[in-house]
Amino acid sequence: MKRALTNLSAAELVSLLKGRGQPAFRGKQIFDWLHKGADFSGMKNLPAALLGDLDGEYAAQGARIVKTLVSKKDGTEKYLFALEDGNIVEGVFMRYAHGNTLCVSTQVGCRMGCVFCASALDGLVRNLEPGEMLSQVLLVNALHRHGEERGVTNVVLMGSGEPLDNYENALAFLRLLSAPGGICISLRNVSLSTCGLAPEIGRLAQEDLGLTLSISLHAAADERRREIMPIARRYSIGELIESCREYVKKTGRRVSFEYALIEGVNSSLEEADALAALLRGFQCHVNLIPINRVAEGKLAAPKQSAIEAFQKRLEDKGIAVSRRREMGADIAGACGQLRRRHLSENSAS
Ligand code: SAH
Repeated sequence: MKRALTNLSAAELVSLLKGRGQPAFRGKQIFDWLHKGADFSGMKNLPAALLGDLDGEYAAQGARIVKTLVSKKDGTEKYLFALEDGNIVEGVFMRYAHGNTLCVSTQVGCRMGCVFCASALDGLVRNLEPGEMLSQVLLVNALHRHGEERGVTNVVLMGSGEPLDNYENALAFLRLLSAPGGICISLRNVSLSTCGLAPEIGRLAQEDLGLTLSISLHAAADERRREIMPIARRYSIGELIESCREYVKKTGRRVSFEYALIEGVNSSLEEADALAALLRGFQCHVNLIPINRVAEGKLAAPKQSAIEAFQKRLEDKGIAVSRRREMGADIAGACGQLRRRHLSENSAS
């Protein structure tokens, strides 16, 4: 597989080009084009021979958009990205009052095995390289950024994959994303979501990057969590919360907890009480998500009234809570769904 030039920092590109007898400014020009989402064919001010040479050895971008779906309800856009080796990952672009958020994938598939998640169904295929993550942002930003229009202002690592299971590459991606001179998205506008790899959360705390950490908790008791999330067999909720406390202490950032409500599994008022007790006094925020039904699965969201009662119970107990807006439901907005549909349609034809 050809490696993408988007894996390289500006300094690395300059030295690559220098190694080919090119002046430093050529490396900077290429870096600028890449961060505008361009491929070799769009790099108008560079010698064709040089671009031809590079093209023989490298891909420019680490991904290309092969399909776009636009929600008629809320303008949310969903993309399928093809990688250089033909693998497919997906991304979602959501418009909010405060900015535009792109949800980025970090792995092809996932090996965490959460029972409600479409990305986990076939296990892990491979880790994404930093440049493959970055290109998702660069390409979508280029689609939306015209004149005064805002492109991608916020990034969430909530697409397919577990970012902390691909730690080095995810961190390298964040450095590229926030580097001066490139697309330069502040890490204050980035959330990293994890199913709870406690040691890596501790490691991330030490990096002190200013990221928002988002924990996919989904249950307040170990036995229940183990039924739906295999990672809970490795790390207890106690260990997980301890690593989150360390994160808050080291970074001064608030942690947010994702709680996907599943009928008959984790949505009773007793479970709301247990969640409130677990998080009491902790500087955090709970985000409730009615579970998206995955075609293959039987799990479903509770009724509206039960969701509202769960939310009210948390609020009454002093927990800061919000409900995730359900965006792009008409275009298979939930993790991994579109890719699976695409793969099964293509294998059927
Ligand atoms: N692996 C990371 C990030 C990817 S999943 C993590 O676990 O956090 C992003 C979020 O979507 C997680 O909170 C995950 O639990 C949630 N999720 C997965 N499948 C879902 C579904 N069918 N309905 C609602 N949320 C889901």
